[in-house]
Amino acid sequence: MRLLRWAIRLLGGQSVIITATLELPPPLTGQAERAALAALRADYFRRILRGSCPHCEQPITQLVQQGRCVFAVPCQHRLYPGIIPTAPAAKE
Ligand SMILES: [Zn+2]
Repeated sequence: MRLLRWAIRLLGGQSVIITATLELPPPLTGQAERAALAALRADYFRRILRGSCPHCEQPITQLVQQGRCVFAVPCQHRLYPGIIPTAPAAKE
């Protein structure tokens, strides 16, 4: 397990810093490690976007803001520090 941290940019240009503890393959170096980390990061967010907790695989019924972090309901796993993204306001 390794604690990973990265920044992502949300719609509207807002940035959030994400931290997560993820399983990593055996020690890699250089480009192989960067590729493995990119794949883990993509998979982590793909699971959230599909409505499944990336830590325990339970369906996420709601995202809850608690202080600076976003948690999944009902499992209560912390998904990332940051804010719950909102859809851009409709323009007329
Ligand atoms: Zn969970």
